[in-house]
Amino acid sequence: MKYGYQDQLLQIDLTGQKVEKKPLPDDLVNDYVGGRGFVAKILFDELTPGTDPLGPENLLIIATGPLTGHFLPSSGKTHFGAKSPATGGYGDSNMGGHFGPALKYAGYDLIVLKGKAPEPSFLYIDDDTVEIRSAADYWGMGALSVEKKLKEDLGEDFQIITIGPAGEKEVYYACISHDFGRQAGRTGIGAVMGSKNIKAIAVRGTGHIPVQDPSKAYAAGKKAYQEIRTKPGFTGWTPEGTAGITNWTNEVGVFPTRNFNTSHAAHYKEINGKAVLERLKITDKGCYCCPTPCGKYGHTKTSRGEAFVEGPEFETIALFGGNCLLQTIEEVAYANYLCDEWGLDTISAGAVVSWAIECFEKGMIKADEIGREIQFEDLETIEYLLALIARREGIGDLLADGVKKAADKVGQNSDRFAIHVKGLEWTGYECRNAPSMMLAYLTADIGAHHGRAWVLGHDMAGSWSNVHDLINSGGGGKAMPEAAVKPECADYVIESQHIRPVFDFLGTCRLQLMELGFEGDHYSTLYEAITGKSMSWPEMLKISEKIWHLTRAFSIREIPGFGRHLEYPPQRFMDEPTPSGPNEGHCLSKVKIDQLLDWYYAARGWDQNGIPTRKTLADVGLKAVADALEAQAITLE
Ligand code: SF4
Repeated sequence: MKYGYQDQLLQIDLTGQKVEKKPLPDDLVNDYVGGRGFVAKILFDELTPGTDPLGPENLLIIATGPLTGHFLPSSGKTHFGAKSPATGGYGDSNMGGHFGPALKYAGYDLIVLKGKAPEPSFLYIDDDTVEIRSAADYWGMGALSVEKKLKEDLGEDFQIITIGPAGEKEVYYACISHDFGRQAGRTGIGAVMGSKNIKAIAVRGTGHIPVQDPSKAYAAGKKAYQEIRTKPGFTGWTPEGTAGITNWTNEVGVFPTRNFNTSHAAHYKEINGKAVLERLKITDKGCYCCPTPCGKYGHTKTSRGEAFVEGPEFETIALFGGNCLLQTIEEVAYANYLCDEWGLDTISAGAVVSWAIECFEKGMIKADEIGREIQFEDLETIEYLLALIARREGIGDLLADGVKKAADKVGQNSDRFAIHVKGLEWTGYECRNAPSMMLAYLTADIGAHHGRAWVLGHDMAGSWSNVHDLINSGGGGKAMPEAAVKPECADYVIESQHIRPVFDFLGTCRLQLMELGFEGDHYSTLYEAITGKSMSWPEMLKISEKIWHLTRAFSIREIPGFGRHLEYPPQRFMDEPTPSGPNEGHCLSKVKIDQLLDWYYAARGWDQNGIPTRKTLADVGLKAVADALEAQAITLE
């Protein structure tokens, strides 16, 4: 008996319209636990090398963890993975809400989708019934609208994931949406779903999940809830959610502004957490069993229209309020709504739009190519471009491929301010005076994503700090000291990179640890109570380390010529000092970036081109992966 799991996966061949139910392999569960671990292992083992990310042979993997769906704090997480159309390498994204728990109650831990349905379809799962149904009535609808329609048609008790028109058109930053505001947003997972002709997956589950010791699990869960309530960040975190960090990022000068031209927006108090709270919010909204609901569901009214919307959370504020310079929280929320309905990742969409506006200002893209003039501080510009992108019409077809590929086509040195790593657009922290955070972005396995390691605390305070402690101690509200490029940056980054996968493979939320200071050891207690197996927090971190090497190996295999050259920041960050704000005058030269990468690669046990050595892979239990890479003519030291 695999306590904590349903011990059943769904393998679905969309081309052949075949659904198979199989037990979870023992070694998959023992070695990779769940969620992100399952995604990494299955992608490496089962994807044919060189597969087109938008071809039928790519896999779309939807994976829960052993804690998903239990009555434990924030156990509503689901992990999605595929070969990424944005980067050509390893791609994944994590989503909250209620879908994962419903999938487990229906009797499944994992779905692996392969092939392409011959016509627009959706997957219908109602406990034992699993069917591929026609989506002819739903194709073309917005992601929010189709979720509402499917609930009307099937029943409110179905949990539904959808794509919008952007996913249907295979926009490289299309997301998968759920619960009217939760997304698996990054790496183009929604484009992969669209390429398979799958508009939605609807799940209703009425079963229960076997637990090794229900009394022990109940007691452990209750204690965890009680302890979370005692943490100093508990009362501070929920009211504004992630938007609460907007003030701090501006005050210390890391807030992306005007396409990362600078790092401080003069109007930040118009778009901060307080503005969300006072001008938008109707209610808090949380994922399954969450004691600290960070979602803010509200209403916005602007000159371009009005809408109900979840958010905006910090990243959307940074990319649309900072980078595109929308001046009010109402406008940022409306841009958020448009992205949600089109099915676009707000981070990449905001980055692409701000890059396009800068190109237009510099005369690199002309008004007749765009169809009109575009500008910063203008919601109408954003509304116009998002619609073109989501439909791949006109200039939108170029922009739909993301800033890296668009800059390659536009030329004229527009790549120097195309802000991405490995093809994935940069998220909401400007790092020209934050070397640890810069290194975290550069080495993140999926591309420039803050969620792989949040280490601004190291740059600010020189020690690990959760966000709450940082903001409420000496670290907040001051400009950073002179950038401290030092070997410890690599250690900080690696330590932090190993934290997030634990939550992604357990199927729970990291924010109680990251934001509130809820200690890692609690997760060992919860895991043991549910599964009956012991795994200490350090043992969990060792599994994270293995996953980190495995996803690296996947990208080395899939991206021709993978190496250090892919891990430099855009030129803007290396030779254009921040022109204003608390960090005025700072940048990180290529010499400093190379130092950081040297230290990081050495600490990881990788060669100086960023390729793991044979010994390193063997030491973390991935000897077979080393063999597989060498079989693909990839030389390992
Ligand atoms: Fe979801 Fe936010 Fe709660 Fe995490 S803290 S489980 S993201 S509502």
